Amino acid sequence: MTGHTRVLAVAHLLRLCEHLRGGEQLAPHQRGGALPCLPMVPDLADVRGQLQARRALEVAAAGGHNLLFSGPPGSGKSMLAARLPGLMPPLGLEESLQVAAVHSVAGLPVAAACAGQRPFRSPHHTASAVALVGGGGRPRPGEISLAHQGVLFLDELPEFPRRVLEVMREPLETGEILISRAARSTAYPARFQLVAAMNPCPCGYFDDGTSRCRCTPDQINRYQQRISGPLLDRIDLQLQVPALSPQELLTPAAPGEASAQVRQRVLAARERQLQRQGRANRDLSGQELDRHCALDGRSRELLSRVMAQHLLSARACHRLLRVARTLADLAGDEGIAQAHLLEALIYRGKWTEQG
Ligand SMILES: [Zn+2]
Repeated sequence: MTGHTRVLAVAHLLRLCEHLRGGEQLAPHQRGGALPCLPMVPDLADVRGQLQARRALEVAAAGGHNLLFSGPPGSGKSMLAARLPGLMPPLGLEESLQVAAVHSVAGLPVAAACAGQRPFRSPHHTASAVALVGGGGRPRPGEISLAHQGVLFLDELPEFPRRVLEVMREPLETGEILISRAARSTAYPARFQLVAAMNPCPCGYFDDGTSRCRCTPDQINRYQQRISGPLLDRIDLQLQVPALSPQELLTPAAPGEASAQVRQRVLAARERQLQRQGRANRDLSGQELDRHCALDGRSRELLSRVMAQHLLSARACHRLLRVARTLADLAGDEGIAQAHLLEALIYRGKWTEQG
């Protein structure tokens, strides 16, 4: 800053427009003035136990995969989900500007985006369709756009209105949402990473090792079918999160690995993907899977056996391969080893064996 440059600090674009229109004027920025307060990003070190879910978060961050946690109430699904942004690479300059622009349009603070923090949005299932996907008389971005370049967390996924979930399939493919109103349409960016959580049944305690659950197989089926197959197909990682046992809850646990350490491995794995194919593994198409996820003879045999036994569809098989590719990238391996494929099977999802 030279002696006669005047710097104006602006929290969002609407304030700047106001200034330029001659309305309320912005105050010149004071050098060394207080920095805006940034929201705290929760750390993985606070999570007790749940080694498999922690690992799934690392894999999700490394490959950009969408993630579904299923487990009883109190198993820590929300706590885990909130830690994903802290494992992801910080926003680059271009990404920061995109996020700041969307948040500014919605009248929200932009300090976190400017500091490279990825957004974490967790709308409630009772939120209106407009609040979730955007729109309205004077169109505004919805939660899926406010989560652009960050994480959209949908807790109790089956409780969201099905038509809202169906609208979400488009942005999951294209990274943007088109809001059409009578005379015009507006496109908002919506390239978010989806993390969803659900109970395994209406009461929440199905298959938790106790006999608390009184739901009938029919009720459980109907509950799980509220989420459509095509939506589940966009979720590469599907994992069951068990409740912590009384021993785990009562034994003082050593702190888990911190987010910063995990992020180092995530960054290295991302770099491998960019070098190899110019994008994250979640975006690998069928043809690219053939090129970058070749299996050796033993692994191919294992995969065809699993496919036959569990009636896995081609799409479920693609999910497996994308995840196995990320596991190999985390391990720093050129090829997918059988160990990666076996670990990928853990994240296959219990209810999608036919999907
Ligand atoms: Zn139940």
